Amino acid sequence: MDRQNAWLKSDAEEMASIMSFAEDYRQFISNCKTERECVKEIVSMAKEKGCMCLSEVMASGRQLKPGDRVYVDNMGKALALFTIGKKPIEDGLRIIGSHIDSPRLDIKQNPLYEDEGMVLLDTHYYGGIKKYQWVTMPLAIHGVVALTDGRNIEVAMGEEETDPVVGVTDLLIHLAGEQLDKKGAKVVEGEALDILAGNMPLSGECEDAKQSVKANILSILKEKYGIAEEDFMSAELEAVPSGPARNMGMDNSMIIGYGQDDRVCAYPSVMAYFDSGIPEYTTACLLMDKEEIGSVGATGCKSLFFENMLAEVMECCGQYSELKLRRALAASVALSADVNSAYDSNYASAFEKKNSSYLGKGVVIKKFTGSRGKSAASDANAETVAKIRKIMEDNDIAYQIAEIGKVDLGGGGTIAYILANYDMEVLDCGVPVLSMHAPYEVTSKVDIYETYRLFKAFVEK
Ligand code: MN
Ligand code: MN
Repeated sequence: MDRQNAWLKSDAEEMASIMSFAEDYRQFISNCKTERECVKEIVSMAKEKGCMCLSEVMASGRQLKPGDRVYVDNMGKALALFTIGKKPIEDGLRIIGSHIDSPRLDIKQNPLYEDEGMVLLDTHYYGGIKKYQWVTMPLAIHGVVALTDGRNIEVAMGEEETDPVVGVTDLLIHLAGEQLDKKGAKVVEGEALDILAGNMPLSGECEDAKQSVKANILSILKEKYGIAEEDFMSAELEAVPSGPARNMGMDNSMIIGYGQDDRVCAYPSVMAYFDSGIPEYTTACLLMDKEEIGSVGATGCKSLFFENMLAEVMECCGQYSELKLRRALAASVALSADVNSAYDSNYASAFEKKNSSYLGKGVVIKKFTGSRGKSAASDANAETVAKIRKIMEDNDIAYQIAEIGKVDLGGGGTIAYILANYDMEVLDCGVPVLSMHAPYEVTSKVDIYETYRLFKAFVEK
């Protein structure tokens, strides 16, 4: 069944809204390249919009009422935003859950070494990447170094135009005969993703001449950030593509940039949350970490964070009991907001055309994800799909339904199944993306806007 190109239904006014929304989004992903940077930025937007910090509400003993907005930050890496609805919370919430972590190269805990006058930083990649894509491009390093005295040093190097970048080198074509005979997964191996970080020896006397370039790098880190070599042990430093996301296409219809999986869903969900009024049902906007490695750990979706914080919100509304919490979770409807692979003409054989998502045809809903025989899928109920379809049809939102690709080729998952464990209704949906998980991913501006429109209609319904 053919879906119309979503651009066709936009008049001049809507076109202007699509473009201005996309520009704000482009700036957001250019400035927020790690889960921590996303949380920091969204918390600052939330404060500006009068959203209260949940722990402050708890401490003040003040009771929350319909229309009140609260946020709660989990270790600076995941975030939940709530708007209290008119109905009792035990009637269920309207939840939009996305993730704000993206594939990247993490700096190891013992990273620094010098070899033949070059200093390198050893990395361990995070999430599913084609390793050969991460060589020969300018990288920036973002993150924190936690010191034993309790201070947290924020690091961001390689983003300003005048700021030096780092990067991973590749073997020259002239010597790559053996390399190019290897399988794609082995062309560049995980241990070959060491980042080149320096080449200049420390001036003056150096105890070990063979370590003088490393000594110089350590002295720069000491001077600039006040950190020593052992502080890498308690650091979270992420190497990501340097520089801003860019408008793309001769028609300016797309965006190319790092980390769009899944900030291209997270950003519209946050905007829909801010732009909606007092809802019937309490709204939760969840921005989770660690989705790319299985949603594990304290800041991943499998953690009790959301459940615990919902209990606290109910307590602040004078509505908490264990039973009411269970009822609230089971009566909820959730959109698991995550990207979908877009059909790619260069790789047409990977897709089954009738059930693929296309750039420019609007928000994608996915009845199920998983792989090879729906393994590990969260399969939405037909009735849930119908409910969301109705919202989209009533609001003239361009949408398409798709699977990731051909049946036996592979697949993937989202946080949908984790929310579905509460016995709530969950549907996967999101923005179609080309070159997913590559250092630079591609999206269409109209799809981002239609996704925002779905999220807004969903929380307002
Ligand atoms: Mn994702
Ligand atoms: Mn992903």
